[in-house]
Amino acid sequence: NHTYTHTMIAYIEPYFLDNDADAASVTGQSFDGVSESLHIQGEILCGGAAADIAGKDFGGMNCVKPLAVVRPVGPEDIAGAVRAALRSDKLTVAARGNGHSINGQAMAEGGLVLDMRSTAENHFEVGFLPSGAFVDVSGGALWENVLKRCVSEYGLAPRSWTDYLGLTVGGTLSNAGVGGQAFRYGPQTSNVTELDVVTGNGDVVTCSEVENSELFFSVLGGLGQFGIITRARVLLQPAPDMVRWIRIVYTEFDEFTRDAEWLVSQKDESSFDYVEGFVFVNGDDPVNGWPTVPLHPDHDFDPTQLPQSSGSVLYCLELALHYRDSDSNSTVDKRVERLIGRLRFVEGLRFEVDLPYVDFLLRVKRAEEIAKVNGTWETPHPWLNLFVSKRDIGEFDRTVFKELAKNGVGGPMLVYPLLRSSPLYFTELCMDPRVVSSLAVSYLMSKRDLLHCLYNKAQTLDEITRGVTACEGTEWDDRASVVLPEGEIFYIVALLRFVPTCAKTSSFEKMVAQNQEIVQWCVRKGIDFKLYLPHYKSREEWIRHFGNRWSRFVDRKTMYDPMAILSPGQKIFNRAP
Ligand code: FAD
Repeated sequence: NHTYTHTMIAYIEPYFLDNDADAASVTGQSFDGVSESLHIQGEILCGGAAADIAGKDFGGMNCVKPLAVVRPVGPEDIAGAVRAALRSDKLTVAARGNGHSINGQAMAEGGLVLDMRSTAENHFEVGFLPSGAFVDVSGGALWENVLKRCVSEYGLAPRSWTDYLGLTVGGTLSNAGVGGQAFRYGPQTSNVTELDVVTGNGDVVTCSEVENSELFFSVLGGLGQFGIITRARVLLQPAPDMVRWIRIVYTEFDEFTRDAEWLVSQKDESSFDYVEGFVFVNGDDPVNGWPTVPLHPDHDFDPTQLPQSSGSVLYCLELALHYRDSDSNSTVDKRVERLIGRLRFVEGLRFEVDLPYVDFLLRVKRAEEIAKVNGTWETPHPWLNLFVSKRDIGEFDRTVFKELAKNGVGGPMLVYPLLRSSPLYFTELCMDPRVVSSLAVSYLMSKRDLLHCLYNKAQTLDEITRGVTACEGTEWDDRASVVLPEGEIFYIVALLRFVPTCAKTSSFEKMVAQNQEIVQWCVRKGIDFKLYLPHYKSREEWIRHFGNRWSRFVDRKTMYDPMAILSPGQKIFNRAP
């Protein structure tokens, strides 16, 4: 076996040339001989063709040469590639979703990259259980296509989304998958009930909360370190027909956060279906300022509505309410007014449009099309994503938004609250804690689960059990690999920087330096934060990132990928010799 893996590497290596002109001569070729030695049915691309596909990512800041790109046909091909790597003394394997990472996380220098998009169509099956509907989809499927098929064929849709849907199921589940629905349903990792995974041992395993549960939770938010997701079972809900999409403007950060936190802490029917927010520059800059707020070309941002006291940056709360075609306009208006009437935004700076649900979820696609036309989709994207605890978000605003980023970052600056637990938990916090504790003991339940049930006015143990089941999947599960700041409420902050095509290298370098400055400031100040989509250069930084979860992460690695073959681009573990 060793011999054939070495033969395979020896076979591929000559095709992987440093000279681009030579590499171009093999571009686009597949190598049946290599395919045979790997026992892989799918296509294998080497040289320039491999570098074209997997040598860069959306971040555009890394350029890495893989040995080969494999287009697997299914899990057996994926397991075949992993086993070949296991038999070699240096090969690594990276699953590549849609390559939308920023810092080379889906790359494998001199290794095998699995282009998961080739498996996109392998699964699509909707099923129904007493607990609700689900769809089985491929790890390599794009969320955009999952949405379109679920809605058009079944009138159903997943519950928790990212803002942009040109991402793969396996790619977002390896991180968390966060968007404006996460306050209610949790991240995407909390909305899957079963996975098929190829581990770093080359095993093909089905896992869930009850079957191989350690692997299930390891893989969720696991940065690709423990296994390659080939199938995910995603929870569904009835898809609404329409969405009212609203933006309202604030001048004061504390008023913005108070309203946002109030909205995300309400019960389902007492809030919007989507809550996000962003910071923008108080000026007419087309990329960073007022023009980024209106939702329709007919809308005008009238700065005379702003109080004199307004600062250098302003805040926008972005909300959406689902409704059905059969709902009358006045019913929708009433629901909106009831909620919005409690919020303290700047009168006169409110924008809203009605649009089909699918168009709402695909809203960032329009921005993608524009960026592709003006060239900024291809330029580097030194993005920074963090989770910052509620405790420190005010200080973060004062230093980062109001000072370091007060002229904008060349793209959106998102900031909105997320809940660690479900909103029901908050509604119940006012209950007498002694009562809750004693009931929890007598029902052998966690206080949190019990509170969920009590809220639903469940009287019997049976009802409580049902109540707990109904509340499942609404929160960040501590058993998953993703790490969060302390506290029940934390904010996602995303500095989505776009570099203009005409920009000098120095402006891009300044952006990277500013990201580092922000992270270093957070560390220095003892800000309670975690990087989302993390990227570090040293082992010490990874240990700090995982904190008291580091040893669990290492144990999981030892169990599921002991040779450290998977996702080397995360730069957490070195391939074992
Ligand atoms: P890749 O970048 O290809 O892979 C990411 C990591 O996962 C790599 O380590 C890779 O090896 C691993 N991986 C890929 N597929 C699998 C698999 N099947 N099994 C196991 N491991 C795998 N994120 C949010 O949470 N919310 C957002 O709103 C959001 N918006 C975004 C908007 C844009 C325009 C972009 C570019 C990114 C956005 N992201 C968002 C970040 C996104 O979640 C990450 O880029 C993520 O990596 C998904 O991208 P991908 O599918 O291309 O995965």
